[in-house]
Amino acid sequence: MKKIPPLDLTRQYQVISEEASKTVIEILHSGRYIGGKAVTNFEQEFANYIGVDKCVGCNSGTDALYLALRALNIGQGDEVITTPFTFMATAEVITRVGATPVFVDIEADTFNFDLEKVDAAITPQTKAIIPVHLFGQPVDMQRLMEIAEAHNLYVIEDCAQATGAEWNGHKVGSIGHIGCFSFYPTKNLGACGDGGALTTNDEAIASQVTMLREHGLKARYLHELTGINSRLDAIQAAILSIKLRYLDSWNLQRQQAATYYHQLLQPIAEIKLPQALPGGTSVWNQYTIQIKDDQIDEEPRRDRVKQKLAQMGVIAMIYYPLPLHLQPVYQDLAYQLGQLPVTEKAAREVLSLPMFPGILQEEQEQVVYTLKDCL
Ligand SMILES: *Cc1c(COP(=O)(O)O)cnc(C)c1O
Repeated sequence: MKKIPPLDLTRQYQVISEEASKTVIEILHSGRYIGGKAVTNFEQEFANYIGVDKCVGCNSGTDALYLALRALNIGQGDEVITTPFTFMATAEVITRVGATPVFVDIEADTFNFDLEKVDAAITPQTKAIIPVHLFGQPVDMQRLMEIAEAHNLYVIEDCAQATGAEWNGHKVGSIGHIGCFSFYPTKNLGACGDGGALTTNDEAIASQVTMLREHGLKARYLHELTGINSRLDAIQAAILSIKLRYLDSWNLQRQQAATYYHQLLQPIAEIKLPQALPGGTSVWNQYTIQIKDDQIDEEPRRDRVKQKLAQMGVIAMIYYPLPLHLQPVYQDLAYQLGQLPVTEKAAREVLSLPMFPGILQEEQEQVVYTLKDCL
């Protein structure tokens, strides 16, 4: 029996290997490894793709989020509303600038934060909201911007898992004040190493971020701010420029694979399928089902299913087993178990099935037949 990995990046690389090798060798010969044309070209191409005026490259999605908060002067005494059902980086940067993350519960269907609860969590200390387009599924950005505008708040989109996703025909990362992207290899647009970028239509924010990513440098050796070192390498930028040309076709392959999973899984009553809001176009960074489970005092049923699947060669993943409000690092925020019940239920039930461009229909069929055996 063939083993099915959660994702297989070698299939993507096969498509670009000739172009990529040629470009990387050229850069190696050029002696220009940081900055330069490869980086400015990619920044321009990515701005065009997302549909914004400005793109600033940096070293990671985490740095992009950190730089965004710094550029908006968010810090000590400020609150930033976000979701507890995300990767740690989203909240970590809020803490790192000295502000307080405020976690609100998610919607059962989309795994994204519930906008009614976002609205209710706003206080005089709130400065910004960070929506996360989790698993590639966009947040209702129209409604969120209405809420933010009514309270004069910034919106920083965490687009790490959603490069190319759209809300009502607008790409995520072009709707909030700032979009933050990760080019970690497993993301929809992944580099061959670390990388990230910010997108914005605000010239002042873009120039602030450009300074902050390079030690607060205004002009040569004139430092106006305390910044960091967070640059996008020339080799990564060149690879990203090549991959960007394939992104839409790769996202389409993910969408087709999602449709096929839907079709195969629909008849299984013990499984809840991922839902989409009308208006949103997901790019399926993950295809995440829920293994329905009411025995909340026991080990999650999902854990047993995952183990059995692995024994039979299908590697499924859990994003995320422990929500951020219950992480040891956030004990001082004093959230209680049971306080964000929809998130906690999702953390118990979610299971992400193998999903990547180039996954074969027979592989998806094997995943689903094996899953049926494991329930
Ligand atoms: C991957 C990810 C990040 C961080 O990106 P890095 O490039 O790994 O620093 C932030 N937020 C979310 C939701 C992510 O999935």
